[in-house]
Amino acid sequence: MGEKAALCQNIIAAIDAATDELVELAKFIHANPELGLEEYKASAKCVETLARHGFEVEKGVADLPTAFIGKIGQGHPCIGILVEYDALAVVGHGCGHNLLAGATIGAGIGAKVIVDQLPGSVYVFGTPGEEGKGGKVYMVNAGLFEGVDLVLGTHPHPVYATVPTVPGSGNALACWGVEVEFFGKPAHAARDPHNGINALNAVIETFNGINALRQHIKPATRIHGVIRHGGDAVNVVPEYAKAELLIRAETRRQRDELVEKVRHIAEGAAQITGARLQWLPSDVPYDEVIPNYTVSRRIKANFDSGGLFTAPAKPGPGLASSDIGNVSHVVPTGAGSFPITDKVIPWHSRVSAAAANTDRAYQAMLKTAKGLALTVMDFMIDSELLQAAREEHEAALAEHSS
Ligand SMILES: [Zn+2]
Repeated sequence: MGEKAALCQNIIAAIDAATDELVELAKFIHANPELGLEEYKASAKCVETLARHGFEVEKGVADLPTAFIGKIGQGHPCIGILVEYDALAVVGHGCGHNLLAGATIGAGIGAKVIVDQLPGSVYVFGTPGEEGKGGKVYMVNAGLFEGVDLVLGTHPHPVYATVPTVPGSGNALACWGVEVEFFGKPAHAARDPHNGINALNAVIETFNGINALRQHIKPATRIHGVIRHGGDAVNVVPEYAKAELLIRAETRRQRDELVEKVRHIAEGAAQITGARLQWLPSDVPYDEVIPNYTVSRRIKANFDSGGLFTAPAKPGPGLASSDIGNVSHVVPTGAGSFPITDKVIPWHSRVSAAAANTDRAYQAMLKTAKGLALTVMDFMIDSELLQAAREEHEAALAEHSS
């Protein structure tokens, strides 16, 4: 048997040996859903599992209590694996992050076999708050990905799970959330409305302005929002109103330009109504994903060889956003999703939460762990492949910033 084939077998054997604890980990997280940045139980369980397998784990990185990095091995190549474990409000693990955690912690356990035999290191990044809280954004900004050569990610999906192997596929939009508050002046809404300043009107004019802008923005762009507060009583001129907006575009540069335009609209609404504007952009703007096809093609090949069949993703603009985008700007980052059902089901729902706790799903999770660990191996042993991923990253980055 060749050296590589032996290594493959040992990796798979290590993950097989960890089957029970990985399934238990995923079941535990499923049974204890925690919202983003509050995943105390889930992150503690992940940390405990990594430590048991010899990882040195640093907790509370980037000043986030539920973030961690588990490190094993020495020096380069240094391959990162992204773990997520936050749940959704109301529906719990309707995004299947319990499976994501099991798959990626499992990949770390498999990858340990490699660094026991070959030079290099594996960093398992516990990244909290993927669902809008942007744990990875803080971690990127804290410089935690500096010196990492390559990063792998994954995500469960229904039957249509794909891996982006085709150029132009695997995109996700850059996104920035803003809270828009207006402060007016109350007055009797019928007796002396001329003495009032209507904060609700300022919010409405903001939405009207955005609708006027829509004709002049690119097709893939999305601006959407809700009114969080629209007044307190029908017979009082609303003195306070608040909206929340998400502004998305194909690149972070386009996103920033668009955010500026929307800010001008809100300033205009303040002018029209006399209300005072408070513009509060989120601390965690999400950047667009720069998919690394050199990496995701290896992921797909390893998924396929393990009997985890996924379709290639179709080229096209991104439809959603993820904080993995910010990671993909600083390190070559490849990801592919894995199917946990045999039919289409509504995602982010109670149905998907139930699907994330089935034998079918746990089998897919274990196969994913193996596919990712074998991908770590591919890049550890093949410096030319790693160099190709790096070159692709540099070229894509230049294109995205132009
Ligand atoms: Zn998710």
